[in-house]
Amino acid sequence: MTNKISDKREHSFFGDVVSYFERAARYTKHPAGLLDQIKCCNSVYRMKFPVRLKEGIKVITAYRAEHSQHKMPVKGGIRYSTAVNQDEVMALAALMTYKCAVVDVPFGGAKGGVCIDPRKYSEVELEQITRRYTSELIRKNFIGPGIDVPAPDYGTGAREMAWIADTYAAFNPGQIDAIGCVTGKPISQGGIRGRTAATGRGVFYGVREAVNIKDDMKKLGLEPGIQNKKVIVQGLGNVGYYTAKFFQQGGADVIAIAEYEGAIYDKNGLDVDEVFKHRKKSGSILNFKNAKNITPSEKALEMACDILIPAALENQINSGNAKRIKAKIIGEAANGPVTPEAERVLLKKGVFIIPDLYLNAGGVTVSYFEWLKNLSHVRFGRMGKRYDELVNRTLVDSIERASGKSLSSKNKEIILHGAGEEDLVNSGLEETMINAYNEIRETWKSNKKIPDLRTATFVVAINKIANSYIALGIFP
Ligand code: NAD
Repeated sequence: MTNKISDKREHSFFGDVVSYFERAARYTKHPAGLLDQIKCCNSVYRMKFPVRLKEGIKVITAYRAEHSQHKMPVKGGIRYSTAVNQDEVMALAALMTYKCAVVDVPFGGAKGGVCIDPRKYSEVELEQITRRYTSELIRKNFIGPGIDVPAPDYGTGAREMAWIADTYAAFNPGQIDAIGCVTGKPISQGGIRGRTAATGRGVFYGVREAVNIKDDMKKLGLEPGIQNKKVIVQGLGNVGYYTAKFFQQGGADVIAIAEYEGAIYDKNGLDVDEVFKHRKKSGSILNFKNAKNITPSEKALEMACDILIPAALENQINSGNAKRIKAKIIGEAANGPVTPEAERVLLKKGVFIIPDLYLNAGGVTVSYFEWLKNLSHVRFGRMGKRYDELVNRTLVDSIERASGKSLSSKNKEIILHGAGEEDLVNSGLEETMINAYNEIRETWKSNKKIPDLRTATFVVAINKIANSYIALGIFP
C-alpha cells in the first residue's frame, strides 16, 4: 500500500520542500549564501544491517537525516514503511527544521526511516530491528539527548521509543540524561502525559484558530467557528484518530473517515471512538453501522465538505485529483499531503490550505516538553499542584465567607484544581499553536505580495533560522 503511494509521487519530495523554501526566500532579505546553508540537508546516514529473523537473515536498509544543526539537539520522528528512501527522510528532516522554528522549539530538524512494512513482522522481530537500528545510530553519533532525539512517526509509536531509550541507556551506562535521547515514550519510561494525542490536538487548535477569524471565513462563504463544520479525515492512525476525536468534541460533524481499505460516510457525523473500536474488532473500517462504504478509499477526499484533513502520508492530493477536491479548507495533518502541482490548482480554486509545517507541529512541541521533563528529572506540576490547591481553597473560602454566597460546585472544581502534568502540557500546546498561527497570519497580511499561508509560514521559519545563524556566526 505504502509503495503504491510512493510511486504516485510527481517528483522529489525534498525538491518540493526546496521549491517552497525558494518561493518564500524571495520575501526575505538574507544573503544568498546563508539561504543556501539553511535549505541544504547537512548530513545523511544511510545504513544497511543484518537481522536474524524467523525467515532467516535479512538485510535492512535504514536512514537518519539531520537537516540543520543551527540549534542542538536535532529532532524528528522515525518512520517504518517500505516507501522510506533518502529523498523522503531529507524532505521530512527539512520540514522538521522549519516546523521547530515556526513554533519556537529550540531544535534543528532531523528524520529517520527504516525500510520495512511493520505489519509483516512479529513484535519480537520489530524489537530486534529497532534495537539494531538504534545501535547503528549510536555507533555514528546520530542519537543522544544533546545530539539527535527521535520520536514516533508513521508506523512507530511509544513501544518502539521505549526500545530505543533502553538500547541507548544500555550503551551509555550512568549517563544521567540518557532517557532524553528519544521522546514519545510510554509514561512509565519517562514519557509525558498528553504526548500521544498532541499532534492531533495541535491540528485541532490550529484549524480552530484559523476558522475563528471571521474575515478569512467570509471569503470562503463559511461562518466562523468549528461548530457544525463538515469534516473528512484521511487516516485513522495516531494523528488522524485524535484529530477526528477533537473535531467531534469541538462540535464538528466528522462525516467521513478514510483508511487504506476503504472509507465510510455518514452525513450526520460518525462517532470516532465507535469507528476506532469497530476497525480494531473487525479489522476493517468498512461496514460500520448506519454508514455508507466508499471504495476506493481515495474517493472520500473528493467529497463535499468544509474541512479536509489528510492525516496519512504525503502526496495524497496531487495533480490527478486536485481538480475534483471540493473542500473549502485543507488542514495538512500529515507531512506533505498536497503536492506543489495540486497546490497551484487548489489555490486558484480559492481553497484555504493550512500547511503541515505549522499544523502538525503539536507533536514536536510536546516532545520538547517531554525532553525538558527528562532533563529536569521531575514531572511538571509535581512541586506546585497541592500548594496551588491550598491557596485556591483558602481564597475561595475567604470570598464565600466575606460575601455570604457560595460558588457553584462546577466553578469551585475548576478554581480549586491545581494544574497537573497534562493540564500544563495541553495549556503549553494551545498557547504555542495560537501564537504561531497569529504570527504567520500577521506576516501574510502585512506583506500583500506573499501569496498564501504556506509561503508566509516559510518566511517566518527562514527569518528565525537566519537570525539564529547570524547571531551564532559562521565557524571559520
Ligand atoms: P500512523 O502510522 O499512526 O497512522 C497512519 C494511518 O494512515 C494508518 O492507520 C494507515 O493505515 C493509514 N493510511 C495509510 N495509507 C492510507 C491511505 N492511502 N488512505 C487512508 N489511510 C491510509 O502514523 P501517524 O503517526 O498518524 O502519522 C501520519 C502522518 O502524520 C505522517 O505524514 C506523519 O509524518 C505525520 N506526523 C505524525 C506525527 C506524530 O506525532 N505521530 C507528528 C507530525 C506529523
